[in-house]
Formats: sequence, structure tokens, C-alpha cells
Amino acid sequence: MFKKIKKTNKSLEIKIISRIVILLVVLFVIIDIIFALSFRQESISEAKIRSKTIAKVVKDSLTSLMVMGVIQNRKIFIQRLKKASKQVDIRNISIIRGNLVDKQFGPGFKSEKPTTVDEKYVLATGKKIEKLDETFNSVKYRVIIPYKATSTGAVDCLMCHKVKSGAVLGDISLTMNLTSVRVATFRTIMQTSIIFFIFLVILVLAFFRFLNPYISLFQKIELGLENLKDGEMDGALIDEKGLPEDEAGKVARTLNETSKSLKEILSDINSKVSTLIGYTVLKTDNYLKDTIKIINELVRIYNFKRVIEKDRTKKDIIRRIESIIRDYMSFENYAIYEVGDNNKMSLLTVGSKINLGKDDMWCGMSSLEDADVCRAKRTGGDVDSVNFPCICPNFKFNIPEENEGGTGKTCDEKYNHYCIPIYIGGKVGMILQLIFDNDVADFVHWMIPYVKGYLAEASPVIESRKLMDLLKEQSIVDQLTGLYNRRYLDESSENIVAGIKRRGTNLGILMLDVDHFKEVNDKYGHDNGDVVLRNVSKQIKKGIRSSDIAVRFGGEEFLALLIDIKEGEGIVIAEKIRKAVESSPLEIPGGVVIKKTISIGVCEYPADSDKFWQAVKYSDVALYEAKENGRNKVVRFTKEMWKEEEY
Ligand code: GH3
Ligand code: MG
Ligand code: MG
Repeated sequence: MFKKIKKTNKSLEIKIISRIVILLVVLFVIIDIIFALSFRQESISEAKIRSKTIAKVVKDSLTSLMVMGVIQNRKIFIQRLKKASKQVDIRNISIIRGNLVDKQFGPGFKSEKPTTVDEKYVLATGKKIEKLDETFNSVKYRVIIPYKATSTGAVDCLMCHKVKSGAVLGDISLTMNLTSVRVATFRTIMQTSIIFFIFLVILVLAFFRFLNPYISLFQKIELGLENLKDGEMDGALIDEKGLPEDEAGKVARTLNETSKSLKEILSDINSKVSTLIGYTVLKTDNYLKDTIKIINELVRIYNFKRVIEKDRTKKDIIRRIESIIRDYMSFENYAIYEVGDNNKMSLLTVGSKINLGKDDMWCGMSSLEDADVCRAKRTGGDVDSVNFPCICPNFKFNIPEENEGGTGKTCDEKYNHYCIPIYIGGKVGMILQLIFDNDVADFVHWMIPYVKGYLAEASPVIESRKLMDLLKEQSIVDQLTGLYNRRYLDESSENIVAGIKRRGTNLGILMLDVDHFKEVNDKYGHDNGDVVLRNVSKQIKKGIRSSDIAVRFGGEEFLALLIDIKEGEGIVIAEKIRKAVESSPLEIPGGVVIKKTISIGVCEYPADSDKFWQAVKYSDVALYEAKENGRNKVVRFTKEMWKEEEY
């Protein structure tokens, strides 16, 4: 689907058209100014030519009147001239007589006297004066042109005037009104402005009619590219309906194809990586960010897997998972349990922000005894107290109910738990328990697929480490009795002795042998013989401390190493074991009770010998002594028992 354009960007159209309009208006104003200035200039030069012509006509007319001898009638001519000149916008035309003429011919008319400073100046200097008077509502051009006596030309002035050539005979003062030119200019500008405005309106309309589709397409492309940059592939698509068939349309179509194929590629990457890591990351509309996110997740998972594959023990891997849960995913309250082969659960690790009490567990102890008490183990599915409150009665903070008919527990209001079974070798081998407050329940649900992704990577590695651990254990543990075998004794004796030496303590060495064991095999069969051996092993284990070491030394012969005992204590412990075996008759199928006893030889290192293997031999010598003295006995080694020279 085409995504709705987020913002309607009209600004580009307005920008373009307003710039064109401003440009045209400025151009128009400049043209008008040039036009007005040139009009003004033209009208001034025309006024100059006209004034020159009038001055010449007046001069020639006066000369003619003079030559004809009728100069005294010049007043009529001047009056007619004034009248005629009014029609061509000439105001104040006056002809001034110079002093030299007055001197020769007597004073002229009153009107021929100079009245202004300028007129007098021109008479005195013979220099022309021009002035332009421009006010708001009028333009006037004033000129005073001197008449000078010349001997050249059609008429020689000096024939009549007794003056030197070049002397000023008089001048003519003219004032022309040029206001009409200004009005005409203004009118012309107004007319062109109206035409220009109409032109502008047509231009704007034409712009919207012909350019608008391109502008809006450009805007769509711009928005599309912006969305593409943000990874919003759907938003990058441009509606192809009504696209022009030209280059602009082609650009839009190419952009659509690019967005579509990019979307396909990114979706493909996303789905393939999701399949690879087993879950999808939170999806947004942003394909680029989603892809980066999922690739990052892939890298993180890959790194996690690479690291745990190099971990040597199951414990290291559990620590790694714990670090992801706690440090990367910020779970503060959690636990990881392991389901043992005997269907008992053990707590591998626990995280808690609160004091969980003596047992330091988020579950009741009962689930440790029987793993099937744990719902996640029993059902093999997730256990979520958010969606199913009070689902697990074993959760520590679900309080037992007193009243009858209830669920047996009152749900905890504060803590939720989410338990995920971890499959190892096709069975639920471990359980991850996450504990969280109600207000982060949504976040936890969102995180669950991520958590499972890591667990899925870890589970085959845990399985292989478990197998390795098992193999290692099998190589040092006797399968029938569960005690260590001789191989273990050979490998670890040096360390055990070094520890005793370092601490300066004693090592008790007990050599134990079942009395007349052959009879059991002979009477009740080999299998029952095995049962007896297992029972004796159990009694030995019970009689020693967990830090002590019990070894199946041979067929029905055992060795117990008692670490850090007090001197002489070995015989006491041996006696305890002997009694325990003596008083633990075994009932075998068929109601037969087998009563067996054991003989024990005791030796202490370093009291009896400062050589470990010699001490072992001495304990065997003491055992022989016990057998010799009637069996079901404990004998401490003494020097006298050793007949040979040196071990
Ligand atoms: P004594 O009191 O002198 O020790 O007599 P004994 O019969 O216990 O000693 P003997 O060494 O004569 O016999 C030991 C027997 O233990 C021989 C062997 O068949 C048996 N035996 C050794 N290993 C096993 C085993 O793993 N299972 C069973 N059922 N019997 C075993
Ligand atoms: Mg025996
Ligand atoms: Mg024996």
C-alpha cells in the first residue's frame, strides 16, 4: 500500500512562484524607471531645441523688422508670439534689450527692461542660463539665451549696430511647462502596469497548470527519498497513478523499483537471520534499522556461541548464560536449576536483589527432591505467572492458604516468575527461572524470545560438556560402587600427600576387605555379591567425611584416605565402619538375609611411614594381620608386622 505523504509541502511551489513574481516586478520597476528617466531626458532635449528655434525665429524676425525699418512695430510681433507660444506650453516669453542698443537707439519699451538677476547676468556676460524647476506637481524649463552681434551669416548685425562683433545686443527669456510630459509618462506607466499585472496573473495560473504536477512529483520524490533514507520502504513508494510519461515519471518509477527491491532484500535478510537465530527482533516500519538490529543480534549470538564453545566446563557456560541474563538483559532476580539423572533438581546459580533466606532459592525445597514437582520440568513448557497467576504453588512467595477449598496458595502480588525449560539431549535438563515485578511484565514477555535464542545456542554445548564431564567421571569412578577407582588414586595421590605435608597434618589409610566374600558369590550368585559390595561401599562413604576419599582398590578390597585426622584417629574411624557393616544385614530376594563383616588394616602417614605407597602397603599388612587373627577386626600397623627389610 502506498503510504500517505506525511507532510504536504507547498512551500516549494510558493518559493518558486514568489521568486519569479519578485524578479518580474523588479524587472518591471527598473524598466519603468529607465522609461521615465528617458522620457524626462527626451522632453528636456526637445525643450532645448524648441527654445533654440524660438530664439532664432525671434532674432530673425526682429532683424527683418529692423532691416525693413519697421522695428518700432515689434510690440505687435511680440504679443502675437506670446499668444502663439502659449499653445505650445511656453510661458513667460520676454525679449530684453541690451544697454548697447539702448545707447544707440534710445530706450525701448518698458517690457524690454531686464527684470531678473539671471537676465541681467546673461546681458552682462553673454552666457546662456538653463534651469529645470521640478516640484511635486510641475516641471518647468527656463532658459535665457543671449543675442550677440555677428558680422557673419545672412545679415551683418554690425551694419546697423555700432558695436563690436560678439557684443550682447539683448536676450530672450523663455519658460516652458513640461508637466504634461510627466503626466503622459505616468499614464503610460499605469497602462503598462495594468498589462503587466494581467501578464503576472496569467503567468501564475500557467505555472500552477503546467508546472504544478512536476513540482508535486518532485516533492513526492523528495519525501520518498527521505523515507528510503530512514528505511521506511513503504513510505518511499510513489503513487504511479497519473505519473507523467517523460523523464520525471521515469525517475519516480525507478525510485519505486529500487524501494521495492531493497524492501525484498531486507525482508529476505531479516527472515533468514530470524530462522538462523530462532527468533525475530521487534519489528518497526524501518527496514534498515530492523535489519541492523537483527544482524547485530546475529553477531551477538554468534559471539556468544563462539565463546561458550571454548568454555571447558558446564559451569563456565552457566556463568556465561547468567552474565547475559543479568548484565545484558538486566534481570536481577533469576535462578538456573539442573535436573539430575535421579530426577532430583539442584540449584546451579541464583540472582536476587532481596534476601531469600536460608535456602537462597526462589522455589520451595520440595522441587529439589522431586524434579516433577517443578511444572516447567514436568510439562516441558513455559510457566508464566503473568498470564496464569498463581500457576506454580512452589514459587517461594506464594503463601500457603489456611482455608480449605482454596488453591493452596495465595499468589504473591509483587513478584512474577517465568520459567523456561532448557532441553538437553531431548529432555528437560535445566530450568531458567526469571523473577520480575509486575510493571516490567510486558518488557519481560518481549525479552523472552531473545532469552530463548541464547538458551537454544547454549543447550547443545551444555550437552556436549555434560557428556565430557560424564566421560571424565567414568574414567575415574568405579561404576559398580560409585567410589573412585585405582586410576584416580594413582593420579591424585601426589596432590593428597602434598596437601597433608603442607598443612603438617596426618593422613589415615584404611585397607578394608570383605570377609569370606567368595562364599556370597558361591551361595547367592554374583549379582547378590555386587549388592553386598555396594552396601559395604555405602557404609564406608557414610563413615568418612565428604572431604575424605574412598577408593575401590580391588575386587572386594577398599581403600579409604582420611584427610587431616588427629594422630591415632584412623583406628577409631575404622572401627566405626566395621561396626556399621556388621550391623547392616542385607535382605536379598527370597527373604534371605546376608550378614557380612569386614576386616580393616590401619596405617597413618607420616606416623607409620613417610612414604605414601609404603604406608598403603603397611595398611595391607595390618589387614592381613586382622584376617589372620579371626577377621571382623581392625588392626593398626606396627613395625613388628613388617618382616622384610625395606619397602
Ligand atoms: P577373605 O576373607 O580371606 O578375604 O576371603 P574372601 O573369600 O573374601 O577372599 P578371596 O580373595 O578368596 O575372594 C574374593 C572374591 O571376590 C573373588 C572374586 O570372585 C570376588 N569378586 C571380585 N570382584 C568382584 C565383583 O566385582 N563382584 C562380585 N560379585 N565378586 C567379586
Ligand atoms: Mg575378602
Ligand atoms: Mg580380598
